[in-house]
Amino acid sequence: MAAQETVDHKYVYDFSEGNKDLKDLLGGKGANLAEMTNLGLPVPPGFTITTEACQAYLATGQEPDGLAGQIEAHLESLERAMGKRLGDPQDPLLVSVRSGAKFSMPGMMETVLNVGLNDQSVVGLSAQAGGNDRFAWDSYRRLIQMFGKTVCEVPGEEFEHALDEIKNAKGTHNDLDLDADDLRGLVDAYKKIFLKHTGREFPQQPREQLDLAIRAVFESWNAERAVLYRRQERIPADLGTAVNVVTMVFGNLGPDSGTGVAFTRDPASGAQGIYGDYLANAQGEDVVAGIRNTVPLQELEQLDKASYDELLGIMARLEEHYKDLCDIEFTIERGKLWMLQTRVGKRTAAAAFVIAGQLVDEGLIDLDEALHRVNGAQLAQLMFPRFQLDHEFEPVAKGIGASPGAASGTVVFTSARAVELAAEGKSVILVRRETNPDDLNGMIAAKGILTSRGGKTSHAAVVARGMGKTCVSGADEIEVNVPAKRFVVAGQTVNEGDVVSIDGTTGKVYLGEVPVMPSEVVQYFEGSLDPEHIDNALVRAVHRIMTHADGRRRLAVRTNADTGADAARARRFGAEGIGLCRTEHMFLGDRRELVERLILARAADEREAALEALLPLQRADFVEIFREMDGLPVTVRLIDPPLHEFLPPLEQLAVNVAVAQERGEDVAKEEALLAAVRRMHEENPMLGLRGVRLGLVIPGLFAMQVRAIVEAAVECAQRGGDPKPEIMVPLVGAVQELETVRAEAEKIIEEVTREKAVEVLIGTMIEVPRAALTAGQIAEAAEFFSFGTNDLTQMGWGFSRDDVEGAFFWRYLELGIFGISPFESIDRDGVGRLVRIASEEGRAARPGLKLGVCGEHGGDPDSVHFFHEVGLDYVSCSPFRVPVARLEAGRAVVETGGSDSR
Ligand code: ADP
Ligand code: MG
Ligand code: MG
Repeated sequence: MAAQETVDHKYVYDFSEGNKDLKDLLGGKGANLAEMTNLGLPVPPGFTITTEACQAYLATGQEPDGLAGQIEAHLESLERAMGKRLGDPQDPLLVSVRSGAKFSMPGMMETVLNVGLNDQSVVGLSAQAGGNDRFAWDSYRRLIQMFGKTVCEVPGEEFEHALDEIKNAKGTHNDLDLDADDLRGLVDAYKKIFLKHTGREFPQQPREQLDLAIRAVFESWNAERAVLYRRQERIPADLGTAVNVVTMVFGNLGPDSGTGVAFTRDPASGAQGIYGDYLANAQGEDVVAGIRNTVPLQELEQLDKASYDELLGIMARLEEHYKDLCDIEFTIERGKLWMLQTRVGKRTAAAAFVIAGQLVDEGLIDLDEALHRVNGAQLAQLMFPRFQLDHEFEPVAKGIGASPGAASGTVVFTSARAVELAAEGKSVILVRRETNPDDLNGMIAAKGILTSRGGKTSHAAVVARGMGKTCVSGADEIEVNVPAKRFVVAGQTVNEGDVVSIDGTTGKVYLGEVPVMPSEVVQYFEGSLDPEHIDNALVRAVHRIMTHADGRRRLAVRTNADTGADAARARRFGAEGIGLCRTEHMFLGDRRELVERLILARAADEREAALEALLPLQRADFVEIFREMDGLPVTVRLIDPPLHEFLPPLEQLAVNVAVAQERGEDVAKEEALLAAVRRMHEENPMLGLRGVRLGLVIPGLFAMQVRAIVEAAVECAQRGGDPKPEIMVPLVGAVQELETVRAEAEKIIEEVTREKAVEVLIGTMIEVPRAALTAGQIAEAAEFFSFGTNDLTQMGWGFSRDDVEGAFFWRYLELGIFGISPFESIDRDGVGRLVRIASEEGRAARPGLKLGVCGEHGGDPDSVHFFHEVGLDYVSCSPFRVPVARLEAGRAVVETGGSDSR
């Protein structure tokens, strides 16, 4: 930037100059203070220093040219307006210095109140307040405390200890019992603490206080906590924070003053009404800090009816203006109400749906906007069973809701014990300080996981989410003692074998078994709750928004289902077909023996006999699935996993054979099996003989499957059904593979459908990077592509999923190499690019090529938006995820401006 430009650049905005849409420049707090000012609401005058000033400061380590002058000018006009000068000894203007980024960030610096007080102005302040010494010294001690802590990094506990000491000496717990002399003494104590830690006296110059506080807010953007938080929430690192300088108003002037927070609706349930807390004779922080007990906001009506009524009027006005639930902060100074903050408030998943529905009813927003305001993650949360909580159950600890769900079970402390008890059919909760890759088996066996350390990206959290298992992490009130097999919480000891309940959504931990109730939203999806006839605001809101999403979406939503029962359930959840029917489970159970015969066959006739025996079994499976999905497409994938998965493990077999030989038993059969297993052993089975490779190597295998599919379809059609089979070849990397399979399949189709015409499509998975990059060639032989994004991610990154997720993903997340596991949400830049290339080149070669996705990403909200953008025809996901995908597919349309992005 040239020097000339810098001088002219506007870095400071008066509240009257901004508005709510300037969040990038003024931060959320500043933009909304400006908005309220311009609505004519009572906001104490002030100004906002822009995020650009912060960015410039952080880039160069000094305030940009012109900033100091602009601050000076705005301060002067503030002083003129208020008729006071900052820190004036007789009648001081005081200000607060408040950080405020575009996104609200709990890791950021706190606010400094009462800037401008010093040894002289504290006396003037008291005189101006009618000789209220207590108030003046209380304000001063707060300044030193906040300034020390947030600007100069003095440990906050030191100030708290000093305060406690004075209270103890007076024999009280209530800070209101401290009089002016006590507080004057406290100021002395605080100053000593300040000197001890900073090596300097508490700064007496008001303007120096202001400048240091502003600079500290700038620097807080890069504080460690803030950096970590941004990484986790995927907030860009270069936004910077704005700084708000606000004229102080005082809630600590006596019983006719106070401070509070409020919501315009219940953020927990969405119910209409006023929700908030009020604290008389207090300043800002006290409400949230829990220093004294607040009273419900309704009680303000008795204390100060005029202010209460005014507040209610303002809240109604804000809701109407923002067209959403707002939360606010306010202060009353001797009967005069001041608004200090507002923003669109955070809410629970249930409240999000309920409020969106209400606002549509009230005519404030339309259904597109309602759809935009809810999301699939919230819907997914509402589909988990919940604890049925009444007064009997009080949580004993609260950690981080790391993976949602509600789980009760017997406490165990080791992986081995978890596996043991689970094998006996018990529900267990694995409790650890933190988990590590050795705990994997125990985590699989457990119903839920509870740790006392670690956040949302800890090993326990990442792995549990991957498994869809309930997890509470970082419940630090719990002291885990693994060798002693117990943990202690709130003075109580919980031993191995005791029962606990954990809520992976709220992070709460309960002793004993809390009854679980099914989700009403799931009951609605399953058809057992009729939204038209029940009085349930949530179900009605979900129904309404889902119906709208279905009307808006372009993507079809299919399900991954291997059985008739799954297919039926998914259909009730709204699935419009099957995108992935795996055939491998059809080779397990009592059919294993046939598969063994097939694999071990030395002669063609042996193999053919095995295939012939398998054919009717497979056909029956398909008949059931086609019947449940009648009229809708069903994509059947030919057998995919390595065949050794159907054989006993090598070591076990070797031991069996040795033992049997020892005993002199006849082991010819076992030996043959062992030899086969040895022969088929692979170092990297996921990259070995599987998928289409099997079909090309084992004669008749794919042919048998194709025949079973087509015969089943013909059978259904003959009975009047409308089957829509699609045969899908897995793991194709070259068009020649697909052509070979296709030639054989077409012959069978031609032969079998002679009896009764049924249309059968043949297509392929795109899950090997080479297939994505040669999609133009492959499309010549495929009527559809289905992206197998699990394998595409494995092979795209070179990650073996089973190995990496438990072993080191937590570290990658911690380092920010990715913000979320690429198995959870599609990696747009890499794996996503393969999907994009294959889609474009496939469609160029064969217009009308049907495109879908059948990896787990099909049910992930972010990924659904990506697949919409790329122009796929459908996503396919597990039955439970179908409603989430429907919702997000609708949201994707609304968010791209209602356009069809294809
Ligand atoms: P946070 O973002 O942590 O809420 P705020 O900047 O909103 O921090 O301030 C913390 C507390 O101080 C809030 O309760 C707020 O209402 C209060 N506060 C901030 N500025 C002023 C002011 N000028 N006068 C009185 N109270 C204030
Ligand atoms: Mg605030
Ligand atoms: Mg695959």
